[in-house]
Amino acid sequence: MIKTPFSGALLAVLMLFWPGVSSARVDPQAAPPVAVTVTRDGDRWTADFTFAHEAPVWAFFDSALLRQSREPWRPAWWSVETPGVILDRQGRYDVLRTADGSPVPGHVRVVMRPQAGDLEAAYDPALMFSDGTVALFSGQFDVIRLESVEAARALPMDLNGVDVQGEPSQVTWRDLSGPLLFRGEWQDTVTAVDARTYVLFGEAQTRQGEGVTTVIDPGLPRWLGEKLADFTPEVMAFYASRLGPSRGGVPTLMVSWTGPTERLSSMGGSVLPGMISMSFEGEGVLDPDRAALDRAHWFIGHEAAHFWLGSNGLRYAFAREAWITEGGADLMAVRAIAAIDPTNDARTELQREVDDCVSLARGAPVAGAGERGQHRAYYACGAVWALAMESARQRADGGDFFDMLTDFQRESADDGILSRAEWLAAMTRVAADPAPAEAIARMLDEGVDDPAAVLAGIFAGTGVPHRLEEGVLTLL
Ligand SMILES: [Zn+2]
Repeated sequence: MIKTPFSGALLAVLMLFWPGVSSARVDPQAAPPVAVTVTRDGDRWTADFTFAHEAPVWAFFDSALLRQSREPWRPAWWSVETPGVILDRQGRYDVLRTADGSPVPGHVRVVMRPQAGDLEAAYDPALMFSDGTVALFSGQFDVIRLESVEAARALPMDLNGVDVQGEPSQVTWRDLSGPLLFRGEWQDTVTAVDARTYVLFGEAQTRQGEGVTTVIDPGLPRWLGEKLADFTPEVMAFYASRLGPSRGGVPTLMVSWTGPTERLSSMGGSVLPGMISMSFEGEGVLDPDRAALDRAHWFIGHEAAHFWLGSNGLRYAFAREAWITEGGADLMAVRAIAAIDPTNDARTELQREVDDCVSLARGAPVAGAGERGQHRAYYACGAVWALAMESARQRADGGDFFDMLTDFQRESADDGILSRAEWLAAMTRVAADPAPAEAIARMLDEGVDDPAAVLAGIFAGTGVPHRLEEGVLTLL
């Protein structure tokens, strides 16, 4: 099981918006609609759900599939101890329900077996450290109240803009053997709603570095830990110099190490408010060869970019528009790494994006890639389109993609959302020609038979040096 470094790796920034819910705050006097107590007692992990309302079905808001198997993780890793309650998959969601359709009891106990697992475009449920430390993603306990199993089956994958009954659970975190790390502070117990973070159970060492606090697995290959601690502040400083300070203060970098699995070289990660989480696995990252180093740089560059374009900065409006943030973060990473390390080969990275976009966009709408499990298309095509936008900007006034982002930051200051319409309108403006944006819209919505030719047309319209020969599109 070899996971290619980029298809499975640079993933996963999901923006957890609560659809149809204006505020996540709860009245401290009122019982929360859903309260969950997460307890670690040695090797035993439990989640005790308390529901203030009756419902026959509770669906887990965050129900992404495991990337490699495309199977749901909860039915395999969680068991319900409460008699008569079933945990299974209905449509695109994991649900708690009863066999006979009667209301789920007011208290449900789940036993959890946290493990490493990479989800499709979503936060991994757990980061596993080699010393037994475990970090759990706070959002995995949020549920939606439903009237029936049929209603669960009818729920779309992307709930942005969908009106559902639900608000983030109130989660209490406890470790019977000691304090836990929550938002950079060690505490005995924590109760929080919609925390959007990883809560760390264990004795991991935290280290204050320049511009970043690190929690790094003691088992992680030393060179990689040092590189992460050094390069992350460097790349963050580069972005800040172009785009202004990131929100949320000094971020925490949490890095877990699953072990030197044979024939595997895997990097995964995501960004949350005030936190970058990463997980590494495989013998492929044991030694600091050039390829591993390049990948680590690339990975950090991409994840750090999300503090400005992604969950912490400008956001997309819908999951099918992840090409805006993932592709943009890829191009940001290319430019940042080239600025910091002049020996880096930016053209090769960009050519890879072109090649992947050409193969993933053929005959299928790119907007639907997420539903097909082809999230890579968002990164590759998004980066290629961002490259075209940058080229048009360069031709217009000598600017670059960061200048485009600066404009977007200003234009989207009120809601923080960079919509597809705004992105495409900016493309038309900067190219002084509607054709490139129209071609991108066609790739997104309808799919094209010959992506290489369509991309070549976009490049021609925006001034990206290229060659199209016998159907092969090459950046010059
Ligand atoms: Zn990303």
